[in-house]
Amino acid sequence: MNGVWIVTGIAFAFSVLLTILTTLFSKKEIEEEDIIKHLPGYNCGVCGFGSCSGMAKAILEDPRNYEKCRPMRKKEKEAFQKYLEEKGLWK
Ligand code: SF4
Repeated sequence: MNGVWIVTGIAFAFSVLLTILTTLFSKKEIEEEDIIKHLPGYNCGVCGFGSCSGMAKAILEDPRNYEKCRPMRKKEKEAFQKYLEEKGLWK
C-alpha cells in the first residue's frame, strides 16, 4: 500500500516540476513578442541590434537597451519604461 503512495507522490512532484518549467519557458517567449509590439517596428538597425527582434532580445538581457532606439519618441519611451516596470523587467 505504501508503494502506491510513493508512486503517486513522485508523479505529483514531476507534474508540478513540469508545470513550472513550461511556465518559465513560455513566459520568456511571450515577453519577447510583447516587447516587439511596443517597438516602432522599422527594423532599421540604428540601435545596433540589427532589428526590432534583436532589440527585444537585448532588452530581456538589459532593459536599459531600449534607450538606444532612436526612432522611439520621448513619450513612447516613457510609456515603454512604465510597461517594463509593470512587467517587473525594470530594476
Ligand atoms: S532602432 Fe528601434 S526601430 Fe530601429 S531596429 Fe532598433 S528597435 Fe527597431
